[in-house]
Amino acid sequence: MKLAYLNHAATSHPKPAAVLDEVARVLREPPFDARRGGVGPDLVESVRCALSTELGLEDPVELRFTSGATEGLNMVIRGLDLAERHVVGTVLAHNAILRPLARLGEEDGADIELVGPGQGGVEDAVCQAIRPDTALVAIQHGSNVTGEVHDVARVARAAHAVGAQVLVDASQTMGMASVSVPALGADFLAFSGHKGLLGLTGTGALVARAPLAPLMLGGGWDDGPGEAGTLNHVGIVSMGAGLAWLRSPEGIANSNRVRALHAELLSGLRAIPGVQVIGPGGPLTLVSFVIDGLEAEDVGHMLLESFGIVVRAGQHCAPLLHEEAGIVSSVRFSLGPTSGDEDVSRALQAVTAISKAVAG
Ligand code: PMP
Repeated sequence: MKLAYLNHAATSHPKPAAVLDEVARVLREPPFDARRGGVGPDLVESVRCALSTELGLEDPVELRFTSGATEGLNMVIRGLDLAERHVVGTVLAHNAILRPLARLGEEDGADIELVGPGQGGVEDAVCQAIRPDTALVAIQHGSNVTGEVHDVARVARAAHAVGAQVLVDASQTMGMASVSVPALGADFLAFSGHKGLLGLTGTGALVARAPLAPLMLGGGWDDGPGEAGTLNHVGIVSMGAGLAWLRSPEGIANSNRVRALHAELLSGLRAIPGVQVIGPGGPLTLVSFVIDGLEAEDVGHMLLESFGIVVRAGQHCAPLLHEEAGIVSSVRFSLGPTSGDEDVSRALQAVTAISKAVAG
């Protein structure tokens, strides 16, 4: 059975041909590294410039390449001097924020306050938690469970009013929604390259618009973006190729098509008896849900084994969000550029069949 891949929010697959071709072309060429005295076309710097333009940065040196969002988020949480300071985060956060924050609290005595969405939404809750002595606010731009996009700019205004810095996790929005660092008001913004940007795994970047002590020291530019050692230039090129494809007429038309597909998936799931969708639905093209009477992990196995559908089932590294929603875990369908009508109809048929079987 041909697999239906509905796990793009974890890692997009397959990548567009334009990305695969560019990766193959670059692998055949000598790897020039201008940072270390190499001569030749500097592909890394051209991707840095393209991403900086996309993010609205004036100076590309503010963007440093990382192995993913996890590295960037850790660089900020561990690189700032936050010992015994007040830090505000949210229960919606991914473990890439939750775990470094927990360690900061345990080892460095930071006062970590994690807020839930409450009645007025997560933005209200974060703004209310900000105090005159708050040092950092860490917030997700888009949720990898509910697909919501948060009003980061509003939170940033409240944080900056008391002199706090703002760390944004844009892993789920980069390439999928508009991400402008100045418009969001982020001091630091981390993202993955292997999701919406359609690059290879082990890629990403951190934007730092404020001083940040580097976690790693080694070879590189003295006054450069703070990267040490030989970069993953093939991975970086893949992000550049992904971005170029997304902004091409083909990429733009495709993202409109996938948005329509997501609306169909969402309304189809909501219409199935016994299915509970988590969150308001969208705008990111993913949806998490539970089927009454079944464990999400079991549903994930059934989807793969009986219907050939690849999903993510579990807590999606967001344990507190699940706790807050009163559920143990959930199943997530997430669409990407290669998702088609047949994937959505297969998914809806499969969930209908599973929920009918459990209802007896
Ligand atoms: N934050 C969010 C919201 C994510 O979805 C992910 C990936 N699951 C990460 C952080 C970690 O990203 P990476 O795999 O690039 O380290």
